[in-house]
Amino acid sequence: MATAHPLPLREAEAAAREAVETGVVDRARAEALGYAARADRRVLEAVAAAAAEAKQRAFGDVVTVSPNVFIPLTNLCRNRCTYCTFVKHPNDPAAKTYTLPEVSETCTTAERAGCIEALMCLGDKPEVAFKGYREWLGEQGYQSTVEYLVDACRAAIDAGLLPHTNAGLLRQEQLVELRPLNASMGLMLESTSERLHEKGQAHFWAPDKKPALRLRMHHEAGELKIPFTSGILLGIGETIEERVDTLLAIRELADRYGHIQEAIVQPFHPKPDTKMRGAPSPEDDDVVAWVAIARLVLGPQVHLQAPPNLAKLQDPDQVDLLDRLLRAGVDDWGGVSPVTIDFINPEAPWPKLDALRERTEAAGQRLRQRLPVYPEMLLEHPEFFDPAMHALATTFARPDGYARETPRMEAA
Ligand code: SF4
Repeated sequence: MATAHPLPLREAEAAAREAVETGVVDRARAEALGYAARADRRVLEAVAAAAAEAKQRAFGDVVTVSPNVFIPLTNLCRNRCTYCTFVKHPNDPAAKTYTLPEVSETCTTAERAGCIEALMCLGDKPEVAFKGYREWLGEQGYQSTVEYLVDACRAAIDAGLLPHTNAGLLRQEQLVELRPLNASMGLMLESTSERLHEKGQAHFWAPDKKPALRLRMHHEAGELKIPFTSGILLGIGETIEERVDTLLAIRELADRYGHIQEAIVQPFHPKPDTKMRGAPSPEDDDVVAWVAIARLVLGPQVHLQAPPNLAKLQDPDQVDLLDRLLRAGVDDWGGVSPVTIDFINPEAPWPKLDALRERTEAAGQRLRQRLPVYPEMLLEHPEFFDPAMHALATTFARPDGYARETPRMEAA
């Protein structure tokens, strides 16, 4: 694999400017910017400034957040990613599959707290790996977790919420089944690196993380016109070239189908009960650099999300990382829940919405609440929805497509 040479400051500034003007960065430039931003703080600042301008041109001064409830429908999973603390073995006392009454009750509480999005997040195909769970599903009348998920989405809608499902790798017919019951869906691409499946690497025990399979699902979601969330995971052993390759793959999908409404730049943080517990989190500079490079590579159609609870982990006293992310092209904080924890990163509490608003405004931006879909998708692309779901989602929106903000949420 050829290694790009870091660009000198002047050339890096010119490359970043060109990206703002054209909305495009090629592979060689993106890699060179990645190396240069790592080597020279001035380059990092130039790339971040360019990315902030690209964001401003594409989305103005708006930064969005989706008030949500996190439903970890089951934390059983057939994969064993070496960084994951979410996954539990059936023998673990913390293993849990929500019953449908529990889904309803949690969603009702969330609706009363002003949430709009029900984030259905769960492990991949646990019925394939665990006989006891498969039997339990059968007793409930389901052949698969996805069949069960369909009814969980119905329960969330009945409770007054809009589902957004991230259920790992799904087949095309499963996407078809879930589409009418979801305002949007998602799958983190994480990384296109095949190397991360080698022995000793993060995805060695994770057959569902194979890049070709995840890319296939992204394509199928595009063909089916599903508003879709993708993303990159930083710090699981990938190289600069592999980061660029992952971002370019997301860009290509977005250009081809128009369904990638947002991409998440998510930094890895080590969890004590995982194989990667000794691995370091990416440095703040690294996160800021790749948020900025992602902004430039993804182009003006794709929203860029950075989870705000993950920005504060490395040094609780370092209060300026949210500000740096806002000044590096972030335009979305993603789902933030007033009622549940982040079950993927249980050690990282969500910021309160009013604190997030303050921090956003301090950086000269405005915080708006959104639905699981972005305004332009809802208002300009009804073809991306089942008609009944489009009608339902519209009832949660203001005329400009952002969420109607309830008094409860305003006070949260
Ligand atoms: S990260 Fe996802 S796919 Fe990997 S083990 Fe955890 S729940 Fe399963």
